[in-house]
Amino acid sequence: MSIFEVTIPRRRDALQLDLEDPLRPLRTQFAIPSGLIYLDGNSLGMLPKTAAARVAEVVTKEWGVDLIASWNSNSWFDLPRRVGDKIARLVGARPGELIATDTTSINLYKALSTAMSIATKDSAERRVIVSERSNFPTDLYIAEALCAERGFRLQLVAQEELAAALTKDVAVLMLTHVNYRTGFMHDMAAVTAAAHQAGALVVWDLAHSAGAVPIDLHDADADFAVGCGYKYLNGGPGAPAFVWVHPRYVNRFWQPLAGWWGHAAPFAFAPEYQPGDGIARYLCGTQSILGLAALECGVDSVLAADAFGGAMALRKKSLALSDWFIDLVVHRCSGFGLKLVTPLEHSHRGSHVSFSHPTGAYPIVQALISRKVIGDFRAGSPGGSGSESENIMRFGMTPLYLGFEEIWLAVEQLYQILDSAEWTAPQFSRKQAVT
Ligand SMILES: *Cc1c(COP(=O)(O)O)cnc(C)c1O
Repeated sequence: MSIFEVTIPRRRDALQLDLEDPLRPLRTQFAIPSGLIYLDGNSLGMLPKTAAARVAEVVTKEWGVDLIASWNSNSWFDLPRRVGDKIARLVGARPGELIATDTTSINLYKALSTAMSIATKDSAERRVIVSERSNFPTDLYIAEALCAERGFRLQLVAQEELAAALTKDVAVLMLTHVNYRTGFMHDMAAVTAAAHQAGALVVWDLAHSAGAVPIDLHDADADFAVGCGYKYLNGGPGAPAFVWVHPRYVNRFWQPLAGWWGHAAPFAFAPEYQPGDGIARYLCGTQSILGLAALECGVDSVLAADAFGGAMALRKKSLALSDWFIDLVVHRCSGFGLKLVTPLEHSHRGSHVSFSHPTGAYPIVQALISRKVIGDFRAGSPGGSGSESENIMRFGMTPLYLGFEEIWLAVEQLYQILDSAEWTAPQFSRKQAVT
């Protein structure tokens, strides 16, 4: 369906699309609260039913009964690698190249620091990290701290200025594949090739893309990647994140957080550090076993799509959902000041859709939440250019568990909130700690 068609999609069209949806059976994997329309799987994925049972088992049996023997008998020690191998299948990495561990912020610190070491070792005058001003702030803070510590400069530019910013003093280009606010998706292979051409390494953050869009790190010739466990991977709040390093770089340097879990022989208890081989050295300390157990269920819920066409089928449905959503909003909610921020071109669209509104982005989202339609609000970045500075409403299109009828119903609620000006009621403007 194109946005230029004049007929407004109807509820029964949505029901038909749900009937024809080959991924529909995957939805039953999740504990979906009744009556809730959840358009925030890009921020916190839904609970896979298996996770509740699995975490209970780890707590009551593996911890409660087997206790410390579980490091061996229940394979706790191998969990970061085992879950990492599963995530590897979703991002085009090979077995043994990726581990599930720590947080995205911490993994970025490790990956970026190592990339900086490699870049300056190979050419000492490269002392600049380039990123986008609109990148997720934690990524920028980590880069800022590393630059201060190591005498580098962080150069922040707008997305359209990236190519020109790749000068000969750039050590590392650090980007997020899908922008957390706008949903803009970079062409990973093309951007990586341009950076390599300029002599820079690339660190990709896959937080808003892993589990939602097809990714092939080897095909794109990427150097480093990190990503998030609790978004499209459905790993639960604060789930371990992941880190991948291309085999050509993984053994070149220690990562800076050289803890005992990354040691070649942690149980030798040697006083000197000897880094483990490959990605194992990117572990630091003792891992969150409960977190990894839940994350494994979340990753399995995404891998279950393999039986229905895998990443390509997920992508196809994600785009169909976002097309349908954009189409409906444009038709049904025109004249209320909403502006689409997410690219219409499929090749540059991730798996969430954002609209800006001059004054109502926050209260409209609150009014939707009061009607059990869950999206979220993201503030514009001060000093940002164009849509970067606008306050936006963000709606995650999670192909694993969303249906077309839910999208239809969500837009209908949005229309009612806008048409009645319900969102202007004072209670919807009260700010909470987490938005
Ligand atoms: C969600 C997200 C993070 C989250 O980092 P944490 O360390 O898990 O808090 C980091 N970077 C990007 C781009 C994200 O979207």
